[in-house]
Amino acid sequence: MEPFVLKNQSFFTIENWIKQFTGLSAGMTTKHGGASRGDYETLNLGFHVGDELSAVCTNRSKVSDLVEFPLNTWVGAEQTHGIHLKKITKADRGKGSHSYENSIKDTDGFYTNEEGILLSLCFADCVPLFFIAPESRMIGIAHAGWKGTVGQIAKEMIIAWGREGIDPQQILVAIGPSICEKCYIVDKHVINMVENTLEDVEILPYNLINDGQYSLDLRDVNRRIIMKSGVPESNILMTRFCSSCDEEFFSHRRDQGRTGRMLSFIGWKETTKRL
Ligand SMILES: [Zn+2]
Repeated sequence: MEPFVLKNQSFFTIENWIKQFTGLSAGMTTKHGGASRGDYETLNLGFHVGDELSAVCTNRSKVSDLVEFPLNTWVGAEQTHGIHLKKITKADRGKGSHSYENSIKDTDGFYTNEEGILLSLCFADCVPLFFIAPESRMIGIAHAGWKGTVGQIAKEMIIAWGREGIDPQQILVAIGPSICEKCYIVDKHVINMVENTLEDVEILPYNLINDGQYSLDLRDVNRRIIMKSGVPESNILMTRFCSSCDEEFFSHRRDQGRTGRMLSFIGWKETTKRL
């Protein structure tokens, strides 16, 4: 069953997790229901893509209402296709929420076990990875294009959580809407890196389609890395939505680089347990 369920025209949630874990918000926006125009029609949430700042801020306010996290609780990153992760605390709230300039530098993944923080990253084809370890209330999100994938940002997250005392067996992962294997054509250089990363996997997730051209299933590469890192296969949810095939999404490839960004997000709502 598809784990990402459309709640209204503007966002999907990871329905199974939301139902299971009280107070959790986790999902991804679509490109519909916003104020941006032209190449960014309409719900562009990326500051850095050439859209008007006022439109991006209007769109972010709208999403903050929809997901019920005030904008000043969001945290955003200057994503660089690297594998740097950052543990987020309440002191970081608001960084990257209203402007790109004060976003957290050179970071492609966040995690936290504190409430009242919305971890957010921007996407248009790259793979969003969502993590949760319910017993320790740890949540995380990562951005995996091909560089982050072969750099094994997924494994970095699982290692970082290991240092927090979390066993991989306790970790659940959801792999979100991103470019599918039919739409993602890469050259031998990328395939070599994938082969090095998945050295002992028997069936590799790519196909030769033309001389020097391969179709690559980036989501499945991430799934295999996560399994190699000790997370049971049954703990991993994987979407069938493709950012390029499905018109709900912005796609960097399909739109030839001139496009908006969706937001993937995860956070624990503040509870009233202290009252
Ligand atoms: Zn596709």
